[in-house]
Amino acid sequence: MLSAMKLLEEETCVRFKKGQGIGNYVDIRDSNYCSSNLGQVKGKQKIEFGKYCEMTGTAVHELTHSLGIGHEMARFDRDTYVIVVESNIIDSYKYNFKKLTSSNSYNPVPFEYGSVMMYGPKDFAVGSYETIIPKDNDYYYTMGFQLTSFLDYKRLNIAYDCMCKNSTITCKNGGYPHPNNCNKCFCPDGFGGQLCGQIKADQIYTATSSWKSQTVSSNLELVLYDNFTIITFAINGQDTKSMEIQLLEAPTMQCQSKCPINGVEIKYLNNRSIRNPVQCCPDSTQWNVVKTSKNNPTFIRFYARSGFNNLNVKFRYRLI
Ligand SMILES: [Zn+2]
Repeated sequence: MLSAMKLLEEETCVRFKKGQGIGNYVDIRDSNYCSSNLGQVKGKQKIEFGKYCEMTGTAVHELTHSLGIGHEMARFDRDTYVIVVESNIIDSYKYNFKKLTSSNSYNPVPFEYGSVMMYGPKDFAVGSYETIIPKDNDYYYTMGFQLTSFLDYKRLNIAYDCMCKNSTITCKNGGYPHPNNCNKCFCPDGFGGQLCGQIKADQIYTATSSWKSQTVSSNLELVLYDNFTIITFAINGQDTKSMEIQLLEAPTMQCQSKCPINGVEIKYLNNRSIRNPVQCCPDSTQWNVVKTSKNNPTFIRFYARSGFNNLNVKFRYRLI
């Protein structure tokens, strides 16, 4: 919970203050649940935060609720992106999925399957049926991924009027002046530097017109249990050409709903700001599929948590 507060303070203008329980405040307690009120309720309001809520992303999720932001699958526009299967949801949890109205659904950023405010496909299900079916099935395993996204922060920055007012810098690649330092940009995944014009990656490869294969195998020193370690590869292309990327092998991926242990994201969508499909399962519609990207560079991001520290992947890429 403290690391989630720190993250939100670093990436937004929201600040948390330890208090004495006077006035309007949030009482954060150990519990068997992970839950929070939606927005301010006056006086004391609770965040229940138990041992199964250990991911930093889960803590960000609950704090974001207390800051007034609802679930992604409850957004007013959710029917364009998901089918919520009412009959498969446990009765006492149905309120979590209830569609918000246009007046209490705050959507300053696009719908995102990979938002930290999104549930997994079988969350709160009767038996093992789906409660949420993505209309774009490529995102099946992305839903419920517990890593705060670029757009999750941006939504809070807009909601809390954090955006820089008189900044003179122009950010590239979908970045925006950082609310905590208006002379530097808040960059989408893979980009860095003052204006998001630089590549921020662990390894950079250059694509040519013939397939190049890359095997990456390493024992990562992972010390984080409650958050993902992220490894980013950048593949440079040519502005006039597209790129094809294919994940060939990933034997150490742990196939689980919501990819809570590890996963891979090929960032092929033109929109640099949004989370692309995260995959960790061989039955994913994304597995081993050749992805075409117009992005130069295109990023591949690997996510892994402590205890599951063998990164062992093979992928290939070429210009077309
Ligand atoms: Zn929630």
